[in-house]
Amino acid sequence: MIAQGEVWLVGAGPGDPDLLTRKAEKLICSASVVFYDALVGPGVLDMVPPATRLVSVGKRAGRHSKDQRTIDALLVEAALAGERVVRLKGGDPSIFGRSQEELAACRAVGVPVHICPGVTAASAAVASLGASLTLRGLARRVTFVTAHLRKGAPPDLDWKALADPQASIAVYMGKQAAAAVSSGLLGAGLAGDTPVAMVENASLPTERLFRTRLDLLPIAARTALGDGPALLLIGEAVRLGTVPSATQGSDAVTQEKPISLSRANCV
Ligand code: SAH
Repeated sequence: MIAQGEVWLVGAGPGDPDLLTRKAEKLICSASVVFYDALVGPGVLDMVPPATRLVSVGKRAGRHSKDQRTIDALLVEAALAGERVVRLKGGDPSIFGRSQEELAACRAVGVPVHICPGVTAASAAVASLGASLTLRGLARRVTFVTAHLRKGAPPDLDWKALADPQASIAVYMGKQAAAAVSSGLLGAGLAGDTPVAMVENASLPTERLFRTRLDLLPIAARTALGDGPALLLIGEAVRLGTVPSATQGSDAVTQEKPISLSRANCV
């Protein structure tokens, strides 16, 4: 499926191997080398055949990782050496995945490069909530935004443009910036009781779901979230979904049972 000297950027989905596309699975099985991110689920890595070289180029905030240029160079070098290269990226490669750099590096030296899409974290998170990102008449727009802190500085976002009561906002890399996200959106006019869902480790057995409101988000994120990747979903659309099942510690945050885990029975 992969020619020698070719590179595929493959979406590995949010973690659950069952959320991998069939195409991604075929590509993984036909690679001679797989470079993967820290957010690629362990169950997905288990699909890599034992004879295939598996190389971690993991990137997690605050932890040692290869820089982007090194990753670009590794992909190109492997392809030029005649390998069949899969670059596994968490979620969908086109969403906060630095795929443009990798595409450009390959194209610059004439290495053929292709993309296999994946299920992005926002889709997995809202599925676990049992909700929808869009709602007829209520949520007409979905915004995917990253609130990654650069050297600790608050995210430089256009809060006025984001604070649309008829939009759902999916905040990637927003855990550390939860307080800035809350004050930015409140300052730009979103209501304090705007519903917020926080989904950690979406689609994995360690998944945890929390509900809070925009004005309580800073304390909720600080007290409820752990080490795993987490997505913040903000907007009226996430008010719907499962009924809260248990309260956790404070009034600021409510924990829920994920919907997605019960789906494991339907083979
Ligand atoms: N390309 C990825 C996003 C990479 S940015 C995608 O399409 O999903 C990394 C951020 O994605 C994390 O900081 C977190 O906000 C989110 N994320 C990735 N996997 C996640 C998961 N399983 N659960 C919750 N959030 C996740």
